Amino acid sequence: MNPGFPAVLGRGLLGELRHFVHRPFLVVTMADLWPLFGNAFDGADCHVHFAASMERDALEAMLAALPAVEAVVGLGGGMAIDTAKYVAWRRRLPLFQVPTALSVDAMFGHRAGVRVDGVVQYVGWAVPEAVYVDLDILRAAPRQLNWSGIGDILCNHTGVLDWRYAHRIGQCEPRWPYDDTLSQRSLEKVEAVLAHVADIRDLTDRGIAVLIDGLRWGGGSFHAAGWMPRHIEGVEHFFFYTLEYLTGRKFIHGQPVGLGIYIGSLLHESRAEEMLHAMRDIGLDIRPQAMGITWDDVGAALAQMRGFARRNGLWHSIAHDIEIAPGFLGRVRQGVEAAYRAAPAS
Ligand SMILES: [Zn+2]
Repeated sequence: MNPGFPAVLGRGLLGELRHFVHRPFLVVTMADLWPLFGNAFDGADCHVHFAASMERDALEAMLAALPAVEAVVGLGGGMAIDTAKYVAWRRRLPLFQVPTALSVDAMFGHRAGVRVDGVVQYVGWAVPEAVYVDLDILRAAPRQLNWSGIGDILCNHTGVLDWRYAHRIGQCEPRWPYDDTLSQRSLEKVEAVLAHVADIRDLTDRGIAVLIDGLRWGGGSFHAAGWMPRHIEGVEHFFFYTLEYLTGRKFIHGQPVGLGIYIGSLLHESRAEEMLHAMRDIGLDIRPQAMGITWDDVGAALAQMRGFARRNGLWHSIAHDIEIAPGFLGRVRQGVEAAYRAAPAS
């Protein structure tokens, strides 16, 4: 049983939307995607909005300027998908989601990751009629975007480590006592990725199915467990949130989260090299230069992660307590550079 939204796998799905989505409808997508997919909506009774910001004020300004529509289609990666959710929520409209890559679990989550003064808040309630996963669209996307999806699955590893850590030191939030059954189910998704490295690298049907199953679990079980994120998220996302806050950059989600998974696994002394090598072998590039930042940025995020996690009231993790040792950044850098030096060119 997977508590996720209905997901439909197939081919040629995009061109069907015009025949069944309530009219007129709004397509929320990205400016760089529209030239690739816009022809599927030629002559359809629809409006188009290019998502550009997840800042709440910008979203509200966009809503105020929107024409009257009867339904919303999200077409793209995390930002288009989350913007579509926000519109569907605020306007109480039926929602249809078409991810163009499996970069993040956003299409399987109820809430949108809105930024308020640069800090993420998950708000809203949007249950799509269906999530249409078009195999041809996915395989035409830059592969780094699909590989990014393992970040939102392997994070179950560090999320569960944090939950067990908080349980061990008596710091679990009273409403979120440790649940080993739930943890084990999350960890099964991690093992599925580790067992299908080549399939995910090659984006075979099996590899895509493993990604979808893991991402559906992440999005769906957050709600099904009572809005409880502990089995699916922890220090690795806290590292990413800190990095995003400090640099103000937009990331391919799995890259900074993946680096956070390695960092979190090192802090917990649990399977760090195994996680690193799986990410490397799949092809996900977690080196700072691959995401347009420097090792100094990584060092700054590590130094400020504890303050960020505490200040923003995030659930108790190893990030809340640990003093980052002077040599730790060097250890992370050495591990990452050694692993990717040995990587086959992709
Ligand atoms: Zn995530």
